[in-house]
Amino acid sequence: VKALCWEGVGRVAVRTVPDPRIDNARDAIVKVTASSVCGSDLHLIDGYVPGMREGDILGHEFVGEVVEIGPAVRTLAVGDRVVVASTIGCGGCWFCDTDQWSLCDNTNPNAALSERLWGQAPAAVFGSSPLTGGFAGSHAEYVRVPFADYGVYRLPPNLPDDAAVYASDAAPTGWMAAEMCRIGEGDVVAVWGAGGVGQLAARAALVLGAERVIVIDRYSDRLDAARENLGVATIDYQRADVQEVLEDMTAGRGPDACIEAVGMEADNDGGLGLYDLATGRTGQSERPVAVREAILACRKGGTVAMVGVFAGLADRFPLGALMHKGLTLRSGQPHSQRYLPLVLDRMARGDIWTDYLTTHSMPLSDGPFGYELFKYKIDGCLRVVFHP
Ligand code: NAD
Ligand code: ZN
Repeated sequence: VKALCWEGVGRVAVRTVPDPRIDNARDAIVKVTASSVCGSDLHLIDGYVPGMREGDILGHEFVGEVVEIGPAVRTLAVGDRVVVASTIGCGGCWFCDTDQWSLCDNTNPNAALSERLWGQAPAAVFGSSPLTGGFAGSHAEYVRVPFADYGVYRLPPNLPDDAAVYASDAAPTGWMAAEMCRIGEGDVVAVWGAGGVGQLAARAALVLGAERVIVIDRYSDRLDAARENLGVATIDYQRADVQEVLEDMTAGRGPDACIEAVGMEADNDGGLGLYDLATGRTGQSERPVAVREAILACRKGGTVAMVGVFAGLADRFPLGALMHKGLTLRSGQPHSQRYLPLVLDRMARGDIWTDYLTTHSMPLSDGPFGYELFKYKIDGCLRVVFHP
């Protein structure tokens, strides 16, 4: 089968790879009909996440059709049209039992490796570095879905693939980010990053009761999309002093909650925090500009929700501000199995919508071109969806 593979820093290519098979009685095989690009893929392509191997298949946000199930799978049938959670949960450990699926103890076969970097291992994620499992991703014609009873959900027939695909990851992440802000009446929430995740976080914040949401980015088409589709205020950080504008907009107090949905960007970090797995040393440090700005701009006693992905160590992280302003810092991969049914329900009720996010749709064979559009945000690109 064909798949879009990581070929080295800055390089992806479509390759022919072996057909995925049922390796475990709890696996399913899904024929992928739509698979979205995500900012997290850019971190892998840019080389900010250690451990990637040549030939690793990218992609973790997808919908498709179940074409084969292992003998122990109870909740699915061949022919089901489904959306699949980006994080893989076993359904039986303490973390899964307590609805913290992205922290599952049992699905990351490279737990020892990630313990060296992070102290403990998170759940596996499709199409990512061995640090988070190393499972083959969904930018492929077929994908093996382990623990298929716990991350696979049937889709309502009226929800098109290009809109449903965001229920895998971007919508759960945005929802969780907003929920982490513990939004109260009259709250103002600022969101750094107007990509798919930032847009969905902004909408979730409004649904959860924010009085005002302000979205920050440098791409005018993305800011326009946020204003037009969500009715939020926006700030272009290349034209204004973000902290000053936020102060002006909040009578000098600052936003009650700040969501960071940017992660590791070349011009955001200024350099790599690459962790060398062999030597245990970190090279140049990450400089998380958006995270720093969010912490500094947040009102005293407020909450900063960091859902942009970081991999290594961070320099110039304003620990002093965190402490002296009494801030709460929250973070994490989405517990997709917890939020996926919720976001599907919100989509059906018209509370959140994702149709405007897919600015580009293309066959998987155009994958390298799609990533070029997405990385440099060319031609108003907000999200690309591949149709293998
Ligand atoms: P994206 O690349 O489409 O969007 C990122 C946006 O951030 C861009 O529009 C960019 O211009 C903007 N940006 C860069 N520097 C900024 C700054 N200093 N201030 C404000 N905006 C800035 O990516 P996306 O798909 O929306 O994903 C965003 C982040 O969320 C990534 O780090 C991704 O890895 C992460 N993510 C996390 C999870 C999770 O599990 N927690 C899930 C999905 C995505
Ligand atoms: Zn588990």
